[in-house]
Amino acid sequence: MLNPVSRPAGNPLPATGPVVSPPTGEVEFSYNPQDQVVMAPTTTKVKGVQAGPSTERASLAGTRLEPKDGKYVYDPADKDYVAAATLATVAKTVEVMEKAYGSKIPWAFRSEKIRVYPDAGKDFNAYYSRNAGSLNFFHDTDPKTNQVVFSGKSGEVVSHEVGHAMLDGIRPDYLGTWGTDPGGFHESFGDIMGMLMALQDDTSVEIIATQTGGDLSKQNSLAHTGEELGAAINNSVGKNVTGGNYVRNAINNFTWQDPSTLPDRGGPDQLGSEVHSWSRLWTGAFYDVLKGMVDQNMADGMSPAQALKAAGQENLQMYGYLLKDAPRGEFTYQQMANTLLKVDSKYMGGKNQELLRQVYTDRKILNPSLYASETEAFVPSDPNAPAVRSLGVTLSGDDFGMFSGAKVETQVDGSFPLGKDADSQNRLKANMKRLIAQGRILYTEPHQKLTTKDYFDSEGLPYTGVVRWVDGQMTIERVPIVS
Ligand SMILES: [Zn+2]
Repeated sequence: MLNPVSRPAGNPLPATGPVVSPPTGEVEFSYNPQDQVVMAPTTTKVKGVQAGPSTERASLAGTRLEPKDGKYVYDPADKDYVAAATLATVAKTVEVMEKAYGSKIPWAFRSEKIRVYPDAGKDFNAYYSRNAGSLNFFHDTDPKTNQVVFSGKSGEVVSHEVGHAMLDGIRPDYLGTWGTDPGGFHESFGDIMGMLMALQDDTSVEIIATQTGGDLSKQNSLAHTGEELGAAINNSVGKNVTGGNYVRNAINNFTWQDPSTLPDRGGPDQLGSEVHSWSRLWTGAFYDVLKGMVDQNMADGMSPAQALKAAGQENLQMYGYLLKDAPRGEFTYQQMANTLLKVDSKYMGGKNQELLRQVYTDRKILNPSLYASETEAFVPSDPNAPAVRSLGVTLSGDDFGMFSGAKVETQVDGSFPLGKDADSQNRLKANMKRLIAQGRILYTEPHQKLTTKDYFDSEGLPYTGVVRWVDGQMTIERVPIVS
């Protein structure tokens, strides 16, 4: 809109209306780093905005936005609100993590900009697709409240999906593996991004400070991820499958157990080997570390809000460093925990060694006998080795059912000793056996054409692997889609 004050008197607007050029540069957007049931929307300034709108790293797809007064700020009831808030959250999450990482975060696909679909149709879901180079959010009606729930309205849900995209950009090999730990870490990293973004925002921090008084053992909206979506999922299933009004809760007491002994999905108080369920162990440990930092900050005299904000910043920086040195290919939670210890001592003066050891030992992720011996727990870095290499097996026998005879590959660290390949191959077979038993591998016939929707099961969960026929040979490929 033209500013009427600046319009010379006697020079009426043309009957067709003025052509408004879209705002560029630093532009204000609707934004909610939490969830609309937790706090009212706020606004944020997004840098590097171009027409579209897009930023250097993300573009709005499937819809357009009409700027209002040089901004993309709307009432939450406005149809444009969801698109503005979703794009702003994607842009801010990338911006914040790039700062902590210290450089541009590459995408795992060719485009410079990730395509953001704020409302890709009817579903209670959200997912990242490497093939499409996109983040996809949906809407559906909560059958109990009759409210239409948009997954893109929740900053936590959006930051979770951006977390997948960023992690895939830095370590694309993780989505070439089949283990519970790389899969669980991918999910946990998304939830952690949601929490770290909530701790970047003053309004959100004030709310969490009021809810907890700085004691993070109290239930609060930081620990609860995706409140509105979680409630809608429970209402549509007809029972409390998530444990409360959230998709996941970072407050838990899970400790490491052999995933092969666990049920598939588990439940609110039961860890499962499905990646979202298994992610709660890593997320619980992250949250304990955060709590330990907040406790220390409070003991040092900070207010609850100051303590939360500082701990959020410290954890953000630690995860930025973690991305630099994170293991390659198949890894275990134990290796990732050791990498956290290593980045804390390498980049952050070793300030949190004791806290990290305590938390990851209590969670039974770290074995105390491995603390001092980095060589045991670390994949050795040989500068001449390729970053990752593929390792394959042919599945054969009754364990693999209709998939017997299929070839499958995983990714391992390039400098991983060749002598350990047999161990990796055995783990790969065990992972395939588990995934096949859990129905996570999609069988296809030769020449069968698949659409995007085929990659999701009846509950909307993307399959982990899909059968491709290569020169008549059944091959199981990893599906690079994560929800
Ligand atoms: Zn996810």
